Amino acid sequence: MSKSIAFIGVGNMGCPMAENLMKSGKSVKVFDVSKKMLEIARDKNLETIENIDDLITDNIETVVTMLPEGKHSREVYLGEKGIINKVSKDCLLIDCSTIDIQTSIEIGKKASELGIKMIDAPVSGGVMGAQKATLNIMVGGSKEAFEKALPLLKIMGKNIFHAGYLGSGNGAKICNNMALGIAMIAASESLMLAKRLNIDIKKVHEIMKNASGNSWPISVYPPLPGLIDGTPSNNNYRPGFSAGMMNKDLKLANDCAQSVNAETPLGKMALEIYDQFCKEGNETKDFSAISKVIGGNAWDYPID
Ligand code: NAD
Repeated sequence: MSKSIAFIGVGNMGCPMAENLMKSGKSVKVFDVSKKMLEIARDKNLETIENIDDLITDNIETVVTMLPEGKHSREVYLGEKGIINKVSKDCLLIDCSTIDIQTSIEIGKKASELGIKMIDAPVSGGVMGAQKATLNIMVGGSKEAFEKALPLLKIMGKNIFHAGYLGSGNGAKICNNMALGIAMIAASESLMLAKRLNIDIKKVHEIMKNASGNSWPISVYPPLPGLIDGTPSNNNYRPGFSAGMMNKDLKLANDCAQSVNAETPLGKMALEIYDQFCKEGNETKDFSAISKVIGGNAWDYPID
């Protein structure tokens, strides 16, 4: 019987990641609780499974999950229908979701008690990175599990890092996204100030891209439209990476900081700004839409 990959969670990120595995010649079966997402996956020629009970069969050698939060990973792996009790000992578990370190450790501990290898492998690079298979993937887990996962991770990503102990992939990812949230607010503040100073935004953007104020939000993902084609700011802030997801990651960063007594004042402030933005009903907009509320609504373009 040919070996297959079970892919759970085919949303914005999971669907293109599963597609890349399929296009590389792997046999991939996908499951999602959302019928709409399954339909989209089917349209991309992925083999869809309607019921999670039918997903884990004897020929599944790897499970990849790409879920929103820790509670979803916990449910999928350890819950009532938890796949941890269904997979064989040889099966490798790869959780690519961005979740709290503690949940990763808990799932990994349970897996290891059953003799199953598991890694946390959250990603960065956004939907474009998932589509182009250029993701950065940060892995936590044993060296042996990392090496076993490497060939598959190389199909989905470009830079694959072994961060250290199980959970440290998420630790690294949380640190990265705290910097990203702060940088997106910083980019929005700078461009807003330039606008108020009545300087051509395109020129300021070009200057910042080449000068010391450059950052990923400036050079790849500017929060204002008309600067780089294909970004959410040019598409009415359709995600991309939602403000709700950024808010979740900033909460994770804040919780991590508290747990180890680290002072992260800018991370805390970024969390307050995104939290308020989400409470105002913007959770599903791209996180770059934060530019709309930075600097006293200085912009003159519509948000939706
Ligand atoms: P998404 O909401 O688009 O996709 C998640 C999918 O999981 C959804 O389709 C949902 O229906 C499904 N799901 C939820 N619970 C489930 C369950 N119990 N069983 C099966 N399916 C279930 O989210 P996304 O943008 O693809 O992000 C997924 C993860 O990747 C998140 O942890 C996010 O923080 C991280 N991430 C996202 C981006 C990005 O740019 N979107 C970038 C890097 C990392």
